[in-house]
Amino acid sequence: MEGAKVIDQQQFRDKLANVDKKGKRLWIFPKKPKGNFYNYRTWFSWFLMGLMFSGPFLKLNGKPLLLLNVLERKFIIFGMVFWPQDLNLFALLMLTFVLFIILFTVVFGRVWCGWACPQTIFMEMLFRKIEYLIEGDANQQKKLAEADYDFNKIWRKGLKHLLFWLMSFIIANTFLAYIISLDELWLMVEDGPAAHLGKFMALALFTTVFNFVFARLRELVCIFICPYGRLQGLMLDKNSIVVAYDFVRGEPRGKVDKSDPSKKGDCIDCKLCVNVCPTGIDIRNGTQLECVNCTACIDACDEVMVKINKPKGLVRFDSLNGITLGKKFTFNPRNIAYSVVLVGLFSVFLFALITRKDIETTLLRTPGMLYQKTETGKISNLYNIEFVNKTFRELPIQLKLVEPKGEIKLVEGNDILVEKESVGKASLFIEREPSEIKQISTPVVIEVYSNGVIIETVKSKFNGPVFINK
Ligand code: SF4
Ligand code: SF4
Repeated sequence: MEGAKVIDQQQFRDKLANVDKKGKRLWIFPKKPKGNFYNYRTWFSWFLMGLMFSGPFLKLNGKPLLLLNVLERKFIIFGMVFWPQDLNLFALLMLTFVLFIILFTVVFGRVWCGWACPQTIFMEMLFRKIEYLIEGDANQQKKLAEADYDFNKIWRKGLKHLLFWLMSFIIANTFLAYIISLDELWLMVEDGPAAHLGKFMALALFTTVFNFVFARLRELVCIFICPYGRLQGLMLDKNSIVVAYDFVRGEPRGKVDKSDPSKKGDCIDCKLCVNVCPTGIDIRNGTQLECVNCTACIDACDEVMVKINKPKGLVRFDSLNGITLGKKFTFNPRNIAYSVVLVGLFSVFLFALITRKDIETTLLRTPGMLYQKTETGKISNLYNIEFVNKTFRELPIQLKLVEPKGEIKLVEGNDILVEKESVGKASLFIEREPSEIKQISTPVVIEVYSNGVIIETVKSKFNGPVFINK
């Protein structure tokens, strides 16, 4: 018996639920889930989808709440503008986010995948629901797929795919609005495709990709494509809380033996937990890479347990140690170490964010230029100066030469005005009396002011002809 169980338990490792022996994809028709967890997930997903679809309409100080304009390399997060110059902040934020995901996964397994990942939310709560509505539950879907094309099949498939394209188009528009902003999107609609050909092509491409992902790829994204899913094996340990089958209570599985009910465990081998699984796996084989923690199997099994008068929770959120040793979750040294690093990283990020300057200045000597002698006999160096204005207002800029003794002269005009959310450039000379030049290269320090308030200090070098002083 024990030997037979070992063979049985290992069989699932040799094959994928959605691929046949010849390597051909097997289409998964998951049974429509129902139960408490499914209801909670539905409400939560409505909340998340509401947030996502309303996001482009939300503004703070007249600016989008979230704008990820990778094309112009401009990002607005909660009303704050970020530029490529803020790469350090992005790097810190990404690092903190990755560590947060790792810590979260170590403790709570793949809850993100089943409850908050846009792929699962759209797939299970939008596209799948449309499918259930038009084609019916798993068995009806299977029958329809096997049937020849007749009026019934054509209108159901036709309507489903029409709605899939429509949903993909709406998602693609929302996605694009996060990249180019809603105002730009409206402009695109008003001016027509000819005036914004590139953006319309992007919209068509996004729509096609989304439709392909939700109509065809489906669970393959979670199983083969998503790198986060592939890393599960590294992150989970015996204390991680995951969707798990209580094999201590459930085995040996099988139909209840009425003559001696104690011969069997609580699992009646009804396979309902398998039938509802959107990735087609059997959770009774233990934690698997394919499990996205969607909890559909918990609901299915709880319903069975109620029917056979057994306590709910044969499949539940628990850790391996929780099931085998009855141990409740405790923070182990690894979790504590992750938490400490996470808090540290987040503190550094917050500090960098709070102390972030409104304007970022870069001062560089013009490449390929040596010093020049002016008509008045002074020695000058030419510089390029660049300002990144991260605010939503115009900023007048004044420059003060702190070191060495000399004078700043702008190449064009007398004032520098940097437009809001933009990069301003100017060229300037630093002029010095030859008698003041004591070395070939002298450090230069310039203070940058706006409206009389010092914003930052920039440094460079001044090159001069030392032989003049000899
Ligand atoms: S739903 Fe529950 S009882 Fe039925 S096979 Fe799955 S674990 Fe066993
Ligand atoms: S095993 Fe359960 S929780 Fe995991 S994906 Fe399948 S139904 Fe969802």
